[in-house]
Amino acid sequence: MSFRSFWRSPIMTAGQKLYEGKAKILYATDDPDILLTHFKDDATAFNAQKRGSIIGKGAVNCAMSAHLFKLMEANGVPTHFIDCPTAIEMRVKAVKILPIEVVVRNIAAGSLCQQTGLELGTILSQPLVEFYYKNDGLGDPLLTLDRLRLLDLATDDQVDQLRRMALRINDLLTAFFDQCGITLVDFKLEFGIDSKNQLLLADEISPDTCRLWNQTETDPDRRVMDKDRFRRDLGNVEEAYRQVLERVLSQAV
Ligand code: ADP
Ligand code: MG
Repeated sequence: MSFRSFWRSPIMTAGQKLYEGKAKILYATDDPDILLTHFKDDATAFNAQKRGSIIGKGAVNCAMSAHLFKLMEANGVPTHFIDCPTAIEMRVKAVKILPIEVVVRNIAAGSLCQQTGLELGTILSQPLVEFYYKNDGLGDPLLTLDRLRLLDLATDDQVDQLRRMALRINDLLTAFFDQCGITLVDFKLEFGIDSKNQLLLADEISPDTCRLWNQTETDPDRRVMDKDRFRRDLGNVEEAYRQVLERVLSQAV
């Protein structure tokens, strides 16, 4: 079943598994407007060519996302977050996910370096907002505005709104992580449309979806506190995830 077909589908029954993705499982609840997200320890990288598991990742990503969604809500950014009934489960508003991954970059890393030749660690003069097609079969390719229009993935108004929201979220997250002694290098967001046609920030905000560098380390490997430790076999993955969560939870929202 594709993620689009289970959104408020009349055939949903409470407890029914609707979708199992790479990092989370979605379940129906007794309310068609609410879904239960189960955060897994499973880890994948390079479009699922590399697979493994990070012990405790589900709990870290669930708690960290909850805290940061609260930060967003407190600052007027609407999100899908409702609450966490357990340490690895989050209740969320059911939305129709836009098949667009919105990436914001403050410092050059990853595919930006590979595709532009910019050196790793180059500070960008202003945040770069990019749109990627959320389509594993195609390898999540970079979109242009004309391709967004061509594929009818979002209206021009929605694209403007996505960009504005992404930049606002970047301002909030950058300031927050800075207080944690962490540099927010880049991150990926997903958005969805709720039953009232409102655009909500959805999915998760975690070390799986953000590049986070420890400000007290200058070594390019030692400073990494995110999924790049798993991607690049840097070791101490669990410890890095735990450390990020500890620092995030130590800052009130
Ligand atoms: P994937 O392997 O597709 O990245 P995940 O393991 O991250 O999947 O599972 C989460 C899935 O649920 C994603 O496809 C994501 O787009 C979708 N999703 C996230 N939040 C919501 C929501 N509030 N309503 C509906 N779908 C959602
Ligand atoms: Mg995902």
